[in-house]
Amino acid sequence: MAEEINCEETKRQVHEYLHNELSEQEIVDITAHVANCESCESDYNFEHAFNNVIKQSCDEAPPAELAQRIIDRIRLIDSGRADH
Ligand SMILES: [Zn+2]
Repeated sequence: MAEEINCEETKRQVHEYLHNELSEQEIVDITAHVANCESCESDYNFEHAFNNVIKQSCDEAPPAELAQRIIDRIRLIDSGRADH
């Protein structure tokens, strides 16, 4: 089971996330945390960050599976917003 990360860990890693320097597992962990943490979501404007990652990843053709996982997390965030 993946190790859960806390808000402090997320803060440290979001910067690297924005530069697409994290491993797939780290990206999944951060995405999962932000998807379930309103504080981090509002702090890091995660959708904007996600768009940046997609732009930067265009040249490198990210694994479709990873992209799908991130999209699934974004949808969770969107559905959470719709409920509130
Ligand atoms: Zn958090």
